Amino acid sequence: MMPLQFTAMEKELDVNKAVRQHMEMEQFFAGFAPRGDGARAEPGEQQDKHVPSPTTPLRINSVEGRTVADKAAELEKIAEEVRKCCKCGLGSSRTHAVPGEGNPNARIMFVGEAPGADEDAQGRPFVGRAGQLLDKIIEACGLKREDVFIGNVLKCRPPENRDPRAEEIISCLPYLQRQIEIIQPEMIVALGAHAARTLLNTAESIGQLRGRFHEYYPGLGRPPIKLMATYHTAYLLRNYSQENRRRVWEDMKKVLVELGLPVPESGRS
Ligand code: URA
Repeated sequence: MMPLQFTAMEKELDVNKAVRQHMEMEQFFAGFAPRGDGARAEPGEQQDKHVPSPTTPLRINSVEGRTVADKAAELEKIAEEVRKCCKCGLGSSRTHAVPGEGNPNARIMFVGEAPGADEDAQGRPFVGRAGQLLDKIIEACGLKREDVFIGNVLKCRPPENRDPRAEEIISCLPYLQRQIEIIQPEMIVALGAHAARTLLNTAESIGQLRGRFHEYYPGLGRPPIKLMATYHTAYLLRNYSQENRRRVWEDMKKVLVELGLPVPESGRS
């Protein structure tokens, strides 16, 4: 992980804590808002629309030398495959497939279970009530939805939101594995039992898995990626106790600390 870096001039500036945190966020998460394209640059990247300002610390996260534009193009290729996919029965019951969306160079990738009715209608992940709660959690972390990547284990909605079936997961998982391989996030946040169990290949309950770091193995020759398991936001909505909200916030604080990011005073998830 890259250490925090500021220019000498920035160090001398007597900015207040909130401004300093904002700058850190801009620099360490895909701070692409100023560049207007939603992407973070790679070292040695060509002078194209993804080139950062010279003071932007760069994250070295690509051994293959992929640029952000390369990553975006590869992710779009997967999305196109997903939209045409008929590998399992869900291909015929869906309205729209939901490939996932977000920053191709995200440090954090959220992985849910499967699209619900709202996601199926729009073709976008986490846009219903559970998605609005996820947005709040992301904001409580001092981040924006555009900073992260949001995907699912299943790319199509199971009828009546039933649990994913083993054969559906087996058919669909390679899409998620390829997305992770392209994005190379530093942290995966698995939302709920299905995402956590699938990515960790375990049968443990979410109660046992949440709150601590695990390792996701992206494949031979690739370093493991840290994974935090936490409650799914849909579960949180159904069990909206202070205790459960506190647990999710504690999990997210661990994620922020692990990534060297500022921890806002309190979460309001
Ligand atoms: N629940 C999920 O697991 N994924 C979504 O995209 C929406 C709700």
